[in-house]
Amino acid sequence: MSDFGLTLENHYARLGEGFFTHLPAEAIGSPRLIHANADAARLIDLDPAVFSDPRFAQAMGGHLPLTGFKPLAMAYSGHQFGVWAGQLGDGRALLVGQARNARGELWDIQLKGAGKTPYSRFGDGRAVMRSTIREYLASAALAALDIPTSRALSIVATGEQVVRETLEPGAVLARLAPSHVRFGHFEHVFHHGQKEKVRVLADHVIGEYFPDLAGDYAAWFGEVVRRTAHLVAAWQAVGFAHGVMNTDNMSILGLTIDYGPYGFMDAYDPWFICNHSDEQGRYAFANQPAVALWNLRALALTLSELVGTEALLDALNDFERHFGAAYRARMRARLGLARDEEGDDKLVGDLLALMARARADYSLGFLHLTDEGAWLNLFGEMAEDASAWLARWQARTKDEDLSGLARVNPRYVLRNWVAETAIRAVEDKNDIATLDQIFNLVRAPFTKNDGGEAFAAPPPSSMCDLEVSCSS
Ligand code: AMP
Ligand code: MG
Repeated sequence: MSDFGLTLENHYARLGEGFFTHLPAEAIGSPRLIHANADAARLIDLDPAVFSDPRFAQAMGGHLPLTGFKPLAMAYSGHQFGVWAGQLGDGRALLVGQARNARGELWDIQLKGAGKTPYSRFGDGRAVMRSTIREYLASAALAALDIPTSRALSIVATGEQVVRETLEPGAVLARLAPSHVRFGHFEHVFHHGQKEKVRVLADHVIGEYFPDLAGDYAAWFGEVVRRTAHLVAAWQAVGFAHGVMNTDNMSILGLTIDYGPYGFMDAYDPWFICNHSDEQGRYAFANQPAVALWNLRALALTLSELVGTEALLDALNDFERHFGAAYRARMRARLGLARDEEGDDKLVGDLLALMARARADYSLGFLHLTDEGAWLNLFGEMAEDASAWLARWQARTKDEDLSGLARVNPRYVLRNWVAETAIRAVEDKNDIATLDQIFNLVRAPFTKNDGGEAFAAPPPSSMCDLEVSCSS
């Protein structure tokens, strides 16, 4: 037992030299707890009562190390926007604990924005309040939508200003994931000629996180392909664009990690680009499945001494099947199609085409299916075509049980304007209540909340053109 009743283990450090650098967090500013997530705390058997202990803000703000754990920054490399970027690593994140819960699960505790590391390159090691709130809310939102993700535990304000395009308030995010190992970890040792370390890393990952597959590297890679395909299928179904699918931002466990300029779509546009810095649209919404496969190929190359070429290719070839099955299941659920009938795929495809032409709101296009007037309103001048599609859907589902629709089609989606509302409230007015309200809406996105109805809407005209970029 360590501080706050946590059971800590220096598990990642067993990988040995070349995988990390030990260093303490920088004590930046004066830590003040802005918000903490009780659901996330429970994952590491942390009693949410500790949130009111001032030592909690100090620990999660990087001022008070957790006893029994030697903090470290991880080393990894990666392909950024399709180009080999060489060594990257945790430039502003620090692993400050690995907690073993009563169920036997291991959870990394990382602080993001707790100072410079040997991997900071030109960066300042800091995080701004804006991106910290964005990651905090989005990881809660995705978890509630049943999408694998890292979890945010807390936001601590540092009280210091951070230089970006303008001066911005600084913050430290504490986040949890079973592991923060990335595809880029494998690329790092492989492309730096340390091929024996690829096996060390694979054994480490399989031993802790895929124990059933011990000794079978091919089956393990197949599982990574499957998880990645399922992850991206879930993003596509819910209308989430990650924004920076570089290989260093791809979790080996198939989790959503490293929230940056992500976006939930408002009007449906398959070529939606959420990252203002992505001029070519490499990470446009519709490209995400292909990019995931590209990234898996980069990972496969690093495993070429552990797994035969044929087995690697077989696993990669399965991506499309896994993706298709997972995507289809999620989309069918969104339309209430339980029984398999001929023409179902076309029904789904025609809806998407219609929404794209009408630029209809993606989330409301599912939520309002059972409210004909509200649904038709989404399609503006295309109402006639929309009406014809709706008649087909109504005929197709007349014998389906539609009571489950409300449990798969979220009412409260973390649209950009909603996240921005939380950010402005905290930054401009120290208004934590609005952040708390939005947090509670997105963590229970299917439950109607009378006070929150305004946040279910598409962006008001004043907040249509918010831009997000890699600068965070
Ligand atoms: P990202 O695409 O945001 O996940 O970051 C890519 C790389 O840049 C990672 O190695 C990060 O740790 C690093 N990085 C991003 N922002 C900063 C910063 N402000 N200070 C130091 N390193 C950073
Ligand atoms: Mg990253």
